[in-house]
Amino acid sequence: MQVVFVGVRPDDWMKGATAVPFAESGCRPRWPMPQTRGRLGRGRAAVARPRAQRRVALIVLAALCLLPACDRSPASVSTGNDKVSPSARSGQTVVSLTFDDAYENHFLYARPLLLTYGMTATFYVITSDSDRPYRCCMSWKELRILQADGNDIGSHTVTHPYVTHLTPSELTREVCDSRQVMLSNGIIDPQSFAYPFGTYDAAAERTVRRCRFTNARQGGGISPSNTTPGAPYAESLPPKDPYAVRTVAVDGSSPIQLTHLKRFVLAAAAHGGGWLPITFHQVCKADAADYGTCMSSYGPIQDTVLAQFLAWLGAAGKPGGAPARVVVRTMREAITVKP
Ligand SMILES: [Zn+2]
Repeated sequence: MQVVFVGVRPDDWMKGATAVPFAESGCRPRWPMPQTRGRLGRGRAAVARPRAQRRVALIVLAALCLLPACDRSPASVSTGNDKVSPSARSGQTVVSLTFDDAYENHFLYARPLLLTYGMTATFYVITSDSDRPYRCCMSWKELRILQADGNDIGSHTVTHPYVTHLTPSELTREVCDSRQVMLSNGIIDPQSFAYPFGTYDAAAERTVRRCRFTNARQGGGISPSNTTPGAPYAESLPPKDPYAVRTVAVDGSSPIQLTHLKRFVLAAAAHGGGWLPITFHQVCKADAADYGTCMSSYGPIQDTVLAQFLAWLGAAGKPGGAPARVVVRTMREAITVKP
């Protein structure tokens, strides 16, 4: 049966877009583009802090961790997977499949594959989209079903702004309010967050933490290339900064290829393992009416490619499969690894 998408936003992708800058990767461009305030292109260097400031921040964080808000006890939601064991620190490669922007094709095409291979993933929701100003994206009912399957439903803010451009009150509205909207729509205990466009700063990190998320994914940081692995090959477990978890940068200019995905997993496994969050956007089906536009969107993946990748991951340690000790876990599961 062909599925016809109606009312897909013109801002969902930028046709013919070139590869995005490293620090800007991780999300699709949206329209209208945010107003420039002279702070575009902030990368990892922009969030580096002086050592003394970092030490003070660590002391404050340690103090905050004594508060209930810092509780990282296991989720009350069934996740469908065992928790990551401490052995993850000794060579295990933990792959997290993360899907941005909650496109409805995630529900239509990725969900059946996840069920087939007994895997769970993390889905980041732009909450105003699921309130239905657009028809591109998953409804709250679909998101509740995904969570009931054991998936991790996280926030991607209310309207997908560059968080580094926001005033403190705007930042609070985008981050805290998105969590409240999720809760009011039946999403249980959201814990994961992804920065729109992958960009963040210290103020954004503080806000995400204060709004009771336990982890936040940035855009990029693993490997200097989005097709060929290089150091660092993986995020550490536990991560150095749970509010700036690194991921493989997205090659926004072309569909994701199976060989690239495998390369990153193989490279991580060959360099001691660790945490490998991988970022996906639209999932496209060949016989769907919107296949052409879907495949020209930002960093898409064809469902057959995703199926092959999941099959390979699911066969870890077996002939034709991923290396032994490669496992798939959601972001909220992976973040629970204790030192
Ligand atoms: Zn996004």
